[in-house]
Amino acid sequence: MTEMEACSRALELKTVPSRVDSGGTSLPLDPGADPELRDLLRTEQLAKVYGMGDVAVRALRGVDILVRRGEFVAVMGPSGSGKSTLMNILGCLDRPTSGAYVLDGEDVSLLSKDHLACVRNKKIGFVFQAYNLLPRLPALGNVMLPLLYDGDRKMSDAMARERAVVALESVGLADRMAHLPNELSGGQQQRVAIARALVNDPSIILADEPTGNLDTRTSAEIMAALQKLHEEGATIVMVTHALEIAEYADRVIYLIDGRVVSDQVHASGIVELHNGSGGAV
Ligand code: ADP
Ligand code: MG
Repeated sequence: MTEMEACSRALELKTVPSRVDSGGTSLPLDPGADPELRDLLRTEQLAKVYGMGDVAVRALRGVDILVRRGEFVAVMGPSGSGKSTLMNILGCLDRPTSGAYVLDGEDVSLLSKDHLACVRNKKIGFVFQAYNLLPRLPALGNVMLPLLYDGDRKMSDAMARERAVVALESVGLADRMAHLPNELSGGQQQRVAIARALVNDPSIILADEPTGNLDTRTSAEIMAALQKLHEEGATIVMVTHALEIAEYADRVIYLIDGRVVSDQVHASGIVELHNGSGGAV
C-alpha cells in the first residue's frame, strides 16, 4: 500500500454517514439529532503515562470529554495538570496509553503513527504558544505550506495561494501577506499561525496557550480572531490559564492532576472554582 493509499484509507471517516431505516428509505440527516454528525470528538477513559516504573508520570487519568461541532471550549487547570498532554492527543500529535479517542466517527487511538499523521494533516489545525513560523518565508508562504505539503490533495500553487490569501484576509492580515515574520508584531505573527491552522479547512482548531506570549491588548486581538472563526462555524478547543481568555469560550473544562474536575457551559462559575468555593471539585 502506498503512503497515499494508506492516507486515503485512514481518512475514510464517516463525516456524513448515510443512514437507512428498516424500510430502505433514507432518513433526513439532522445534525442536531444524529450524534455522529453532532459530535465531533469524544474521549473515553483517556489515559497517558509518560515513562515507566519509578519514574512513570500519569499525566491523564481517565478523561471523558465530548466536543460538538461548532463549540468553543477552553481547557484550564494548573501547570502540570495535563492540558498539553490532552491537546497533543486530541491533535493526533501523540497517542494515549489507554482509552478511546473518537474523531469524526473513527477511533483514532488505534491508528498507526503514519495514519495519525494523515488524520492530523486533514482534520486538525494547531496553534501553539510559540508561533512556529518559518523565518525565511513571508506570511503568505507560511500559510501556503500545509497545502503544498499535503501529499494527496494535488493542489496547484495558484490554488494554494488563493486559499492562503483568503485565510490571511479572514484574520485581518490582507495588507501584511508579503512581510517576513520578523517584520510582524507578535499578535500579527500569531494571526499568521491561525491562518495557517485554518487554511486546510480543518474539522477542529486546537490552540495551546495561543496568547501565552502576548500582552493583554494583543491577546484581545488574537481572541477576536478566534471568536470570529467560531462565529463562522469553526470548532475550537483552546488551552489557557487566564480567566479573561477562557471567558471568550462558551464552555470551560477544568483539569486537575490529569482528571476533569469541572465541565461548565458558562465561564462565570469558574471564578468561584478558583476561589475555592466551586462545587465541582
Ligand atoms: P500542562 O500543560 O497542564 O502544564 P502537561 O500536559 O504538559 O501539563 O504535563 C502533565 C504532566 O506530565 C506533568 O507532570 C509533566 O511533567 C508530565 N510530562 C509532560 N510531558 C512529558 C514527557 N514528554 N515526558 C515525561 N513527562 C511529561
Ligand atoms: Mg501546557
